[in-house]
Amino acid sequence: MLVYFIGTGGSEGIPAHLCTCSTCNEARKFGFAQRRPSTLAVITENKRAVLFDVGTDIRDFLNVPLEAIFLTHWHHDHIYGLYKLRWMAKETRLYAPEGHADALILNDPKNLRPNVIKPGQTLKVDSLKITPIRLNHQIETLGYLVEEDGKSVAILYDTKGLPEETREFLKSKVPLRLVIIDATYPPDFNDPYHNNVDEAAEIGLSLAERTVLSHISHKNLPFLELVEYVRKRWKNKVLVAYDGMVFYV
Ligand SMILES: [Zn+2]
Ligand SMILES: [Zn+2]
Ligand SMILES: [Zn+2]
Repeated sequence: MLVYFIGTGGSEGIPAHLCTCSTCNEARKFGFAQRRPSTLAVITENKRAVLFDVGTDIRDFLNVPLEAIFLTHWHHDHIYGLYKLRWMAKETRLYAPEGHADALILNDPKNLRPNVIKPGQTLKVDSLKITPIRLNHQIETLGYLVEEDGKSVAILYDTKGLPEETREFLKSKVPLRLVIIDATYPPDFNDPYHNNVDEAAEIGLSLAERTVLSHISHKNLPFLELVEYVRKRWKNKVLVAYDGMVFYV
């Protein structure tokens, strides 16, 4: 499978409108440092697409039928793109946790076909086996373990650390090829709902061959500083996501 990072930012995106912090200023100079809200696609061996969160309008990036859409949770930065996407000309399954569901999407889903999904309820989608797992966030939130042909990827956002049951489940799958994880904040920053860079890297290193840090806020280090920080500590075992990044698993 191939993982396509369409959006790798936090809720505000980078640059945040009118913000003059060093992260946002840098992103006005270097296009690669700009970030859309969280949107991720997995392209299967059969070249079919499955979407995980829709924080942005995907039409310029992924203009193919979707096998299914999975939401991690119903925070706005993970569902914005659904308001447009629901008009697509093909019925598409939308799997999401129950808590805090968006009323507009549920009452008027157009061509989306919403389904509630619960932790541990494994689904087959094309050649993928997808298992939702519980995360630690402000509202009910699911990560996903995506498996294909003996290779596995964990999508772990939004979260602060991991619930014990999730850590145990993922440990039973070690080594994962890839962990994609919430690294919203800079080192030493403490938040009850999101990881900082060190917390995210530590989780990833304990589970996977490679870790990709994503869901990056403008409060994090500017792109080039963040890349330097990560590379010095963890070489190429930990990478910083960027919009448009593609990872072959
Ligand atoms: Zn800023
Ligand atoms: Zn969230
Ligand atoms: Zn978020």
